[in-house]
Amino acid sequence: MKRTLFMLTTLFLLAACNNGKKADTPSPVEDGIDSTFEYKVDRFADIEILRYPVPGFNSLSLQQKELIYYLSQAALEGRDILWDQNNRYNLTIRRVCEGVYENYMGDKSSQDWKNFETYLKQIWMANGIHHHYSEDKIIPQFPQDWFVKIVKSVDPGRMPFRDGMAADETLKEIVPVMFDPKVMPKRMDQTPGIDIVAASAVNFYEGVTQKEVEEFYNAMKVPNDNTPISYGLNSKVIKENGVVTEKVWKLDGMYGKAIERIIGWLEKAANVAENDQQKQTIQSLISFYKTGDLKTFDEYSVLWVNDTVSHVDFINGFIENYSDPLGLKATWESMVNFKSIEASERTRIISENAQWFEDNSPIDSRFKKEVVKGVSAKVITTAMLGGDTYPSTPIGINLPNADWIRRDHGSKSVTIDNITYAYAKAAEGNGFKEEFMLSDVERELSAKYGTLTDNLHTDLHECLGHGSGKLLPGVSTDVLQAYGSPLEETRADLFALYYLADPKLVELGLLPNEEAYKAEYYEYIMNGAMTQLTRIQPGKQIEQAHMRNRATISNWVIEHGKADNVVSLEKRDNKTYVVINDYNKLRDLFGQLLAEVQRIKSEGDFEAGKKLIETYGVKVDPALHAEVLSRYEALNIAPYKGFVNPVYKLVTDANGKVTDVTISYDENYVDQHLRYSRQYSVLPLKN
Ligand code: ZN
Repeated sequence: MKRTLFMLTTLFLLAACNNGKKADTPSPVEDGIDSTFEYKVDRFADIEILRYPVPGFNSLSLQQKELIYYLSQAALEGRDILWDQNNRYNLTIRRVCEGVYENYMGDKSSQDWKNFETYLKQIWMANGIHHHYSEDKIIPQFPQDWFVKIVKSVDPGRMPFRDGMAADETLKEIVPVMFDPKVMPKRMDQTPGIDIVAASAVNFYEGVTQKEVEEFYNAMKVPNDNTPISYGLNSKVIKENGVVTEKVWKLDGMYGKAIERIIGWLEKAANVAENDQQKQTIQSLISFYKTGDLKTFDEYSVLWVNDTVSHVDFINGFIENYSDPLGLKATWESMVNFKSIEASERTRIISENAQWFEDNSPIDSRFKKEVVKGVSAKVITTAMLGGDTYPSTPIGINLPNADWIRRDHGSKSVTIDNITYAYAKAAEGNGFKEEFMLSDVERELSAKYGTLTDNLHTDLHECLGHGSGKLLPGVSTDVLQAYGSPLEETRADLFALYYLADPKLVELGLLPNEEAYKAEYYEYIMNGAMTQLTRIQPGKQIEQAHMRNRATISNWVIEHGKADNVVSLEKRDNKTYVVINDYNKLRDLFGQLLAEVQRIKSEGDFEAGKKLIETYGVKVDPALHAEVLSRYEALNIAPYKGFVNPVYKLVTDANGKVTDVTISYDENYVDQHLRYSRQYSVLPLKN
């Protein structure tokens, strides 16, 4: 399942290997994206905003460009759905802040105003008032009374006060939500033993307890259903007259106004589809949006996963369940893309050999797939990001998520090259690898092979890792609960790490020699055991699934390699470094852990899974944490990156016939969000 590497490894690994740009990365220069292309757009708080190039767009056919244009519009129309999903006050807070930002006539040179501007940029980045990654509420760095004063100073006619509410009433509602650290402190809270539904600020549930929600969906499930729908995927659970019920996200339901606009663009897209199958896929999605019927969603997903021929492709809908404490509800997201033919050769080779990898995997043969089905993988160029892929975006995606569709129809796996490329360009010369790598030996390996092995790691993780192995009969993935996601990512990463060092990759021509993999091994452990801690606030633990996975793997191999002196954290001049003494044995350790994690998943061993993650993937050594934070701070690198999208325009002739679609890259971060809020914002303040 799942989206991977939510821009994490990229940030750290690529940050560390910038000097050695490999020839295997695309060269956007040929498409008019030359050395003057500005990758860096904005910098605030813990965020840097980048711009990604879309090499190859101008060479597409007119029909393909038009298709991308309509799908891109559909990608932007769902923005407010996500905002409302993340928290039910998000739209009100954003629109009030934007109203002030655009209409305030007072002093804009004060520190309070600057902090207010930063806050607005932060919530744009997070699609709401909670940090996109840590899930913690972003606390404004300007005084509450100052905020109240400036809101009231703006002409109310220019403000979005709901249903004729006055400023006072709106402020009464949003001020505690914005300023009081105790009100809705976390977007998602999965602390064991609490009511995680009640404790989470997401807008998937209102007025119901965790127990009520669980009972509600358990009652729906059909026993022994081999092809179950994704229960609860597209709805909010509420209580009406004391009865638990669902508000479904569909054309005549919740979020209907935005969905109507999405459908409008999808209809245009269907008219210029590349082939009948793609047209049918889009029409099936439209019909899902109209009915909200999850069976139709599965039909759509099957059509979508089977379309491996179209050059242009897209994701659009309620897809990932990372933000729901119960893992049922999906946030809205979109990504429009087209295939990068040359780079896809890499994933084609991997896919063609999928069965070999499965057969030779170091896991118990009871857990192996006899026949690996439909691993379709490609490298893509993204053309538009929307909803939950914007501004923060993944570098690899593997969908659909429904287990039975993956079992019967396979999955589609993509590596997003132009995003990776933009990260690498933006990281050039930032000093990261000089600070954190042990010596020139590691830096040289990284320079030579870092990008290549990082990309291959992503390919293996996506194309093969998630798709490998099987559950024993009667075992459901749900039994692993909150540990399911980190364990699944751990499994996929271990699969990739184990095979990176396999001579088979050299034999297949994917790696130049049997030394290259060391670059990824070193950088992986360095990130998992050390440098990813820059994303954790002092005193906090590791929460995010991918970070837990990386910490689990790194800390586990350090612990289990102690006796043989395989890999360790050592001090040199008071600074901690990763030292790898035996790469071969490190590979063996990855293999051993892979076998164990596969066993946990295949048997549904909740206790062992919990113990593994809690022991190695959650706790933070405070001394090491403080050290990493201070070394990192000195480099002044933003721990998180987001993106702005390019702007597409239809060119028409006198008769209104489309003659071209242009792409431009000149919109800045603030203008883009203000424009999106004007152009793609049709939902009521509260839904
Ligand atoms: Zn993954």
